[in-house]
Amino acid sequence: MGFDDGRKLKGVYAAEVLHNKQVTPHMVRLTLGGDDLRRFPQRGFDQWFRLFLPRPNGEATNFDAVPEKLGTIDYLKYLRHGDRPPLRNYTVREHRPDLGEIDVDFVVHGDLGIAGPWARTAQPGERVVLMDQGTGFDFAADASFHLLVGDESALPAIVGILRDMPRDARGLAIIEIPDMADVQDVAGPEGVEVRWLARGDSAAQPGALAIAEVKAFTPEVPTTLSAYLVGERTIPAEGRRHLVSVGVPKSRITFVGYWRIGKAQA
Ligand SMILES: Cc1cc2nc3c(=O)[nH]c(=O)nc-3n(C[C@H](O)[C@H](O)[C@H](O)COP(=O)(O)OP(=O)(O)OC[C@H]3O[C@@H](n4cnc5c(N)ncnc54)[C@H](O)[C@@H]3O)c2cc1C
Repeated sequence: MGFDDGRKLKGVYAAEVLHNKQVTPHMVRLTLGGDDLRRFPQRGFDQWFRLFLPRPNGEATNFDAVPEKLGTIDYLKYLRHGDRPPLRNYTVREHRPDLGEIDVDFVVHGDLGIAGPWARTAQPGERVVLMDQGTGFDFAADASFHLLVGDESALPAIVGILRDMPRDARGLAIIEIPDMADVQDVAGPEGVEVRWLARGDSAAQPGALAIAEVKAFTPEVPTTLSAYLVGERTIPAEGRRHLVSVGVPKSRITFVGYWRIGKAQA
């Protein structure tokens, strides 16, 4: 699968918040539960989904406005509902189908926006709806080296990929986080180094440390590298430009901007 294949998937899954836990200073983990999540497809890696949330400020939310899939026409119909639930993109952190539970890690990024502020105070019993979008990462079995790069919003995706990669994979994962206290446990292959970069008290813009690290990286064999670049939009944009300039074929680079500094998701 790839990031573009998600729109072909059909089906929505109702759930409710079961638990809300602060896992690190900038990350809140919501456990979502419900019978629908027993049949939510379990794909592992960086499986992501559309999350339909309650409207802010306690406004009534019409979850019936959620379409079965997100083709252009379905999306336009959804937009016509003034009381529609807002929509954001998130990653499955862990899925326990036997219990009908999914954990989702939300970056806590202040008071702006909808999903981040909601997650901070979400209460057990609050309703949401999920739409599976598949995986963006496609394991390249012929790759001699895997480069995975992202910021804190990509932490769930990169940690999931590391968890599910073949144990003999070789590579480097670069994960930029706000603070070293935001490091999480990783169960990756021994041959994949995990490099955490903390912005800490520096004035670095989100993504700047990760980009500098990618620019300092020269693949041994560019034509057999597999690269995955996600997070704040400058990470995939500048990271890809560098890798192409050192000879990595464009077809071997998966890249998606997850969010954009100063710009709310539509
Ligand atoms: C495939 C995919 C998977 C994703 N998985 C996850 C995930 O598992 N966990 C996760 O936390 N995010 C994830 N994201 C990113 C998430 O969708 C965005 O961060 C989203 O903008 C958050 O929505 P919001 O309502 O909080 O903020 P918005 O309303 O979109 O934006 C409001 C303001 O907040 C700022 N902002 C948004 N996100 C961040 C951030 N991460 N850090 C700092 N400032 C921010 C914006 O620049 C804007 O100024 C994923 C994105 C994609 C495309």
